[in-house]
Amino acid sequence: MQRLISYGTPRSVRAGEVLVELGEGEIPIFVVLSGELEILRPSFTQETLIRVIGPGRFTGEVNTLSGRRAFARIRARQDSEVIQIARENLLALVQTDEELSEIVMRAFILRRTELQAQGLGDATLVGSSHSADTLRIKEFLTRNGHPCAYIDLERDPDVESVLARFHVSAADTPVLICRGQTALRNPTNREIANCLGFNEAVDESRVRDLVIVGAGPAGLAAAVYGASEGLDVLLLETFSPGGQAGASSRIENYLGFPTGISGNELAGRAYTQAQKFGAQMVLTTGTRLTCDRRPYIITLEDGVTIPARTVVIATGAKYRRLPLKNLARFDGAGVYYGATFIEAQLCRGEEIIVAGGGNSAGQAAVFLAQSTKHVYILVRGSGLADTMSKYLIRRIEETPNITVLPRTEVIDLDGSGHLERVTWRNKQTGETENKSIAHVFVMTGAEPNTAWLERCVALDSKGFIKTGSDLSLEDLSDAHWPLSRRPYLLETTLPGIFAAGDVRGGNVKRVASAVGEGSIAISFVHQVLKE
Ligand SMILES: Cc1cc2nc3c(=O)[nH]c(=O)nc-3n(C[C@H](O)[C@H](O)[C@H](O)COP(=O)(O)OP(=O)(O)OC[C@H]3O[C@@H](n4cnc5c(N)ncnc54)[C@H](O)[C@@H]3O)c2cc1C
Repeated sequence: MQRLISYGTPRSVRAGEVLVELGEGEIPIFVVLSGELEILRPSFTQETLIRVIGPGRFTGEVNTLSGRRAFARIRARQDSEVIQIARENLLALVQTDEELSEIVMRAFILRRTELQAQGLGDATLVGSSHSADTLRIKEFLTRNGHPCAYIDLERDPDVESVLARFHVSAADTPVLICRGQTALRNPTNREIANCLGFNEAVDESRVRDLVIVGAGPAGLAAAVYGASEGLDVLLLETFSPGGQAGASSRIENYLGFPTGISGNELAGRAYTQAQKFGAQMVLTTGTRLTCDRRPYIITLEDGVTIPARTVVIATGAKYRRLPLKNLARFDGAGVYYGATFIEAQLCRGEEIIVAGGGNSAGQAAVFLAQSTKHVYILVRGSGLADTMSKYLIRRIEETPNITVLPRTEVIDLDGSGHLERVTWRNKQTGETENKSIAHVFVMTGAEPNTAWLERCVALDSKGFIKTGSDLSLEDLSDAHWPLSRRPYLLETTLPGIFAAGDVRGGNVKRVASAVGEGSIAISFVHQVLKE
């Protein structure tokens, strides 16, 4: 308590006094010395009591670190004495006091997990489990670790009264209600981020030591190492922390997790760790790099420009799509590019297809086989041996409800609204089969996200970024490399611009290597900043 007092200010509060209102940004935490505080969730008509915080306990959760808006109202239950610790001082505390940091960070992470599990937050989604947009919104909020209550159009008895209160109808769904006030009809991910205040706490005009584009494992690692080593770090991310790894149901080969960890959980922890060290994230897309002057400038989708002394490009890669003309119609409505718990729930007890022969296809098949009736793995080649790890092939062979169909591809999808039937063809025999299948998981390889860089950095023949010793003298002379030294490991043809993870030519497409590269890049960032 004495150590805590040095970070905050003692304060007396009266019974009934509101210390934090739902939706307030940059909130402090309160440590209770005597008396009691109550954490409340005001909903449409009533207040739900989440917790009572007594002496020796403290308020706050992950949003307190990031400066995002409060999920709850905090009110004194009786006359109380508290220590009020402002966000800035809280950051100093978790960065410097190891023992207190462990207590606070652990509590924050567990509280967020509980809020998510119970759907206790500032967002309520009204939708149908048969709607692709409902699934998209659920996934966006889940992948961003944002708690959300869900009201199912088909099953929830309260649905009519909720819709009536916000003057919307079932035809307007999915509807997202922000802080019990604003009803957004089928909002885009960006509209959701704006309404829930994801980007508010960030000063976009400051020249940063380091801007990282992409918050997959490589970008998150760069953010953790950069911020923990004192750099002013801004992370830009289109969708959610975690990147491709965030879509992985279980990562079993990442060091230190012998029983495996879901990609979303790993990403959530890494993101909280980056926040603890003061890194900030904006949910946006980098659309252009201005590279003919320094500081470099990154233009965002809304035209805002961010100046940066150094840049780590960690934009990763995206999955190839099947060459079928009506594929987009079934995106999220039967066709998926990730196999997480959410998708597994949708196809419980049914027959499904996984298209692809790589490790991610294998993992998806093994994971989905646990809850589905049967998994067909469709592979274009003659088998899995050349493309998949041995341990996964063995698991597939040992799983009775998985069938591998070599030299086979999907040729047609059919259904009104949701996918209902799939036709596949064996390329060798020409035989086709039409089956009543409503779920196809596409896991067929990746392309680098480098289009936005235009001609700023040298790319290899497949569009991946060339770095370090892969850069030839010709590459450097074409790019007018201005320094007497050669590019550092992971440095591109532009001094101070690095590439890490799946976006880099020659990368090995693994979480651990992306994390390694993101971390290594930081030691060279320091050297460039000193030059
Ligand atoms: C389903 C699945 C399962 C996997 N399982 C494993 C596994 O078990 N073990 C393993 O080692 N590897 C696994 N992998 C591979 C691993 O996930 C990737 O190698 C790793 O995620 C690469 O990390 P990255 O940070 O380089 O890129 P990514 O993970 O691709 O992240 C890039 C990020 O950049 C963002 N972005 C892109 N363009 C922009 C832009 N212009 N502006 C802002 N943001 C942008 C994207 O939204 C994304 O979040 C799996 C992959 C998938 C898809």
